[in-house]
This record gives sequence, C-alpha cells and structure tokens, in this order.
Amino acid sequence: MRLVIVDRDGVINEDSDAYIKSPAEWVPIPGSVEAIARLNRAGYQVIVATNQSGVARGLFDFDTLTRIHEKMHRVLAEAGARVDAIFFCPHGPDDHCDCRKPRPGLLHDIAARLKTDLTGVPAIGDSLRDLQAASAVGARPILVLTGKGRKTLDQLGASHGIDVWPDLGRAVDALLQPAGDGD
Ligand SMILES: [Mg+2]
Ligand SMILES: [Zn+2]
Repeated sequence: MRLVIVDRDGVINEDSDAYIKSPAEWVPIPGSVEAIARLNRAGYQVIVATNQSGVARGLFDFDTLTRIHEKMHRVLAEAGARVDAIFFCPHGPDDHCDCRKPRPGLLHDIAARLKTDLTGVPAIGDSLRDLQAASAVGARPILVLTGKGRKTLDQLGASHGIDVWPDLGRAVDALLQPAGDGD
C-alpha cells in the first residue's frame, strides 16, 4: 500500500493562532490541493492526522468540524484530489489522551484501520509534535516550512536528519521523484 500521512493546519490549509473555527477560515495553502492530487494520481492514499483541541477548548463543536472537513473534501474534489480519511484528536493538553500528537495514538488508529504497518511511511507536518508522533511509530517524518514550520526548524537545531521542504507541493515533488524510490 502506498500511503502518505499529512497534518492539516499549516500543511494543507493556512494555520491560525486563533484556530480554524469555521469553514470560511479554512483556506488552502497555494499548491497543497494540487500536491494531493498528484499523490492520488501516483496511487497514494492520503490520510490526514490532525490535533483539533479547539473542540476541547469550546471554540467549535463536532458539527462545525464536520462542516470544515466537508469544505476541505469539496475543495479537494474540485481539483481532482482526495483524502481517504481524516483522523483527529478533539482533546486538549490537559485531557491526557493517547491521540493528541506528539503521542502516537492517531497513527496507531490509522495503522489499525488500514491494517498496515507505518514503518517508513512519509508523515508530513509543520510542528515538532507531528515529527515526534511520526518517529514514535517508525514513520518517516518530513517537515514543511509553511504554518509553524520555520519555528519548528529552529527547534530542531543542527543535524536533525529530517527532510525539510518549503511546502507540501515541494515535499510531494520529492516523494514522487523516481530516484527517491530506490531502497
Ligand atoms: Mg500543523
Ligand atoms: Zn486526543
């Protein structure tokens, strides 16, 4: 199975420190929708794994989150792109759940649902916690510099060994290069 896991805010859509609380606030990052379409055409399933603590914080409810995701699916479909599933953590930092990244619960859920192993699976994110969750399950963390990405790059320091790309479009270009399929 060819599979890519992607974070949502700051990777597919523009992030906001005030949270994405409505469909209107969900605005795609230039090139991200087309990048997902390229993955689909290359035979990849694309699964979203996203922390949505705004639910626990009372900023928006499950129904609104569903409507936000309906908009995302619609915008993707209009460009011939598709995400196959969205796994989200609705909890806050004080809930001590297993699914809020950097904990690996969302990724374990994806592995169980797809009955697959995530070893080496590309997991693209903009926050340190995305990279940590990926590493915890043996997936391959990839950092993009959109969203919180530049701050995350500073946090990583030198010699981190993680692939870094300006945005999802460039990260996908690199994934789809034939030369990258070697070992
Ligand atoms: Mg993010
Ligand atoms: Zn959770």
